[in-house]
Formats: sequence, C-alpha cells, structure tokens
Amino acid sequence: MSTKIGILAIQGDVAENVSSLVASIADLNQDATVHVVKTPEEISAMDGLVIPGGESTTIGQLSLVNGSQKVIKQKVESGMPVLGICAGMVLLASNATDRVVGKMDQPLFDFLDIELERNSFGRQRESFEAKISMDSIGISNYHGVFIRAPAISSTSDDIEVLARFNEKIVAIKKGNIIGTSFHPELTDDLAVHKYFVNLVKESKN
Ligand code: GLN
Repeated sequence: MSTKIGILAIQGDVAENVSSLVASIADLNQDATVHVVKTPEEISAMDGLVIPGGESTTIGQLSLVNGSQKVIKQKVESGMPVLGICAGMVLLASNATDRVVGKMDQPLFDFLDIELERNSFGRQRESFEAKISMDSIGISNYHGVFIRAPAISSTSDDIEVLARFNEKIVAIKKGNIIGTSFHPELTDDLAVHKYFVNLVKESKN
C-alpha cells in the first residue's frame, strides 16, 4: 500500500509543503501520496505528518479545539514520523518562551524535552537566509530560510542536534521526530523533504 504523508492544514505554509513533498516523491520515484489533513480522522490515516510554519499559538489552540492534537500525540508517540517546521518545531517542544514576551501560555505537543525561544532571531524584518549543514543526516550547504524563527537553547541528552547557526540550535532529531527553525519548503532544494519521505517509508517497513 502506498505511503501516506499528511500536512497539517490548520494554519500556515501548507501549499508550499505540498509542492515540495510531491516533487520529492517524484524524484525518489516512491509509492507515496500527499494529503492535506485537518481532522482527527484524516490525520489518523497518515503514515507521516508535516507540521508547517505559521503561528504556533494558532495552530496549537485550534488543534486542541478540533481534537486533532490528541490524535497527533497518539500517532507520534507510537512512532509516526513528524517534521515540525518553524512554528511546527515550536509545537514539538516541552517548553517555549518568546524572546520579547517571555513565558508563553500556549498548548504544546510536548514531544521533545527542549528549551525553545520563539522569534529568537528577531521580528519579520530581521528574517534572513543562511547556509546550514546537517552532516549527520547527509545534508550540507543547505539554503536555510529563517522567518521569525525559533531557536533551541538546550536539549535533553537523547536529542540529536543536527545544525547550529550563530551558536543557536536550529535543527534537531529524536528518532522519527525532526524539527527545523528554517523553512525547507521555501527553497528549491528538496533534501530535507526527501529525507523525511524516506524516513516515513522506512518507518512503515
Ligand atoms: N514566530 C512564529 C511562532 O513562534 C513562527 C514563524 C514561522 O513559522 N515562520 O509561532
């Protein structure tokens, strides 16, 4: 049966992730399909999930209201691969503060024991692009697009740091859970989405 990869479509960068996943699957010549998902029923049929960039408070609160948060937690805790991008990475965290506002009272999925700072590099106008290397997963010289991006200041020992920028942690991995501060769907380089498609495929075998 073909692998089903979902993009959580509550708010944020959904269409761009659809394009990147569709192109990755075609390049890899894999038997996989891409689905825009929102409801608990839709999410429960997926083999992997991308939580896109956007506004983590909005995505977190609405996922609580529509019941999808519970299903996401169950699926990820039982091994479903998840890629959290920017706001999506915020949601993976156990703890999030905002660089200016401080402690945030926002619903988080709490998959990763990390200290995370929202908007760690500044506001929208301080958005930037930088070369990022994630050598341990075979991705180097990657074009990182940072938009009101979060960063991680500390992690528990079981979390692999994939990349740093200016001493801040900007990509992490724990088993099938991956988080990036930057936006892989906003570059032509499909390396991160391809890596995720392969991870989902392997997790099904
Ligand atoms: N600053 C946003 C948040 O913390 C994330 C921005 C993004 O996803 N580009 O929710």
